[in-house]
Amino acid sequence: MTGHRLVLVGGGHAHVQVIRALAQQPEPGMTITLVTDRLLTPYSGMLPGHVAGIYSHAEMHIDLGRLAEVCGVTLVGSAAAAIDRARRTVTTEDGASVPYDTLSLNVGITPDLSGIAGAEEHGIPVKPISSFIARLDALLEAAARADGPRRIVLVGGGAAGVELALALKARLTGLDPKGRPFWIGLAASNGLVATLNDGVRRRARAALARHGVTLLDDFRVVEINAQGLRAQDKRFVTADAVLVSTAARAPSWLATTGLPTDRHGFVQTTRCLTCIDDSAVFAVGDCATVAEDPTPKAGVFAVRQGAALTANLRRRARGEVLAPHRPDRNYLTILMTGDGSAIAGRGGWFAVEGRWVWRWKDWIDRRFMRRFSEFRR
Ligand SMILES: Cc1cc2nc3c(=O)[nH]c(=O)nc-3n(C[C@H](O)[C@H](O)[C@H](O)COP(=O)(O)OP(=O)(O)OC[C@H]3O[C@@H](n4cnc5c(N)ncnc54)[C@H](O)[C@@H]3O)c2cc1C
Repeated sequence: MTGHRLVLVGGGHAHVQVIRALAQQPEPGMTITLVTDRLLTPYSGMLPGHVAGIYSHAEMHIDLGRLAEVCGVTLVGSAAAAIDRARRTVTTEDGASVPYDTLSLNVGITPDLSGIAGAEEHGIPVKPISSFIARLDALLEAAARADGPRRIVLVGGGAAGVELALALKARLTGLDPKGRPFWIGLAASNGLVATLNDGVRRRARAALARHGVTLLDDFRVVEINAQGLRAQDKRFVTADAVLVSTAARAPSWLATTGLPTDRHGFVQTTRCLTCIDDSAVFAVGDCATVAEDPTPKAGVFAVRQGAALTANLRRRARGEVLAPHRPDRNYLTILMTGDGSAIAGRGGWFAVEGRWVWRWKDWIDRRFMRRFSEFRR
């Protein structure tokens, strides 16, 4: 093979694995460039633990600068803003033009606040996680003051919303200098952790009750303002801060690339993870949807695509036929409850809870992060 320029856009969960794998076993003649808007990429599985005060900022981030240096990857520290597929170049926000033979996108999602009036101004979206962490720090600082926020609502009854509500409760308890309690609400419109099995749902509901998080059931938020939030059925709940963990959409710049997208703007790919109309462009993780076999937007799928993507990037560079990726839908979900315990669920019936489950999750997540923080060639 003569020179083959692989350009990775975004340091998401799949790309960090591609970088590591191609450093462990380099592909002859391949040069790799990582285009990233951030040098530290967050690992979402550890975000609730960070909110609860268990993990430091450094512990829940992968240092892309270090990883790129150790792995011999050229780093372009700017957000990708456009793709010229005819010329095969990516243009960044600060005007750099990066040529590719193969391009791969793993840029995550942005929150879709369009259905909630006032959310842009008054809500705190949990995605992108980097922006959320900065706003969370400001919220925690304000909450530590006697006149700071005391009523906080999480919008979104999915796994992230449940974990964040419990994590916030754990973090805030006892923070008030005068001992005034914090009130945490969780607004869920489509049931609680509706994609998980009955056992997990029951345990999640019980954990919220045990920790004094108020579940606002069937509360479809249509407006957030300076006083609180309003549901479609006109109920109004006062709140000093509203965190939003609901629907997401693809980053808007992808729509300008001409890449085929679905109605939510996610890049449509084949099972081989290439765009349906361009075999030079791969797309993985939350920003992409396998047209024939869509999966939920969850980090576990992005993580598992890492190995399949690496193998297909090698095949493409060698001119070989690509292989389809078959996602395993029977995946394990672990929700931390903020009290040194966690709930695990898998498939239609498996559900367990306990301190050992939390230790298990902590072990899995720390092991994942060590793969990058301790990697040497
Ligand atoms: C609180 C919370 C907890 C969660 N917990 C779990 C969990 O336990 N398990 C699970 O499976 N899922 C979990 N999720 C879902 C998970 O966060 C996402 O599914 C996962 O992050 C998607 O990974 P990704 O690799 O597609 O993108 P991301 O992890 O979002 O990575 C995208 C990367 O691309 C970069 N980027 C973005 N735009 C550009 C650009 N234009 N140019 C260059 N770089 C760019 C970003 O800075 C980032 O580094 C959780 C989500 C939240 C909010």
